[in-house]
Amino acid sequence: MSAPKPSCWDFYVILDIIPEDKFCVGETKQGCRCGNVINKADRYTANLLITQMNQKKELLKMKGDVEQLAELMLCKHVHNSDRYSDYNQVKKMSSRWTEMIDVKYGEIQKKNKDAAAMKAKKETRRVERIGERRAKVFGLFF
Ligand SMILES: [Zn+2]
Repeated sequence: MSAPKPSCWDFYVILDIIPEDKFCVGETKQGCRCGNVINKADRYTANLLITQMNQKKELLKMKGDVEQLAELMLCKHVHNSDRYSDYNQVKKMSSRWTEMIDVKYGEIQKKNKDAAAMKAKKETRRVERIGERRAKVFGLFF
């Protein structure tokens, strides 16, 4: 089976993130979205990284990218800080996003499998029709 094409995925959608919305993707202890702002340079780099990820061919080889993305999209003061390791959410976000990628991968695999099954069914029908036509033609002569 052929690998999914690069245009099959959009990480803005898969990971449900918009770097332009400025805020850290981390969560507070109460489960609310963190209100800390991500600086412009990191948002720019995050956008660039997502664009590159969207062009890659191997969906499952993005663990390193996802971790880098989490570092960029989490605030330096709390959720991506070495000083408060209890609050650091780089690992948590990376594994959540990796899971989301796995789900998407499963969906693409299923779609490809269904498409292949459909194609095989059509081909079988086509061969049957040829057989029927030949039988008719032979029927005329013999
Ligand atoms: Zn934060």
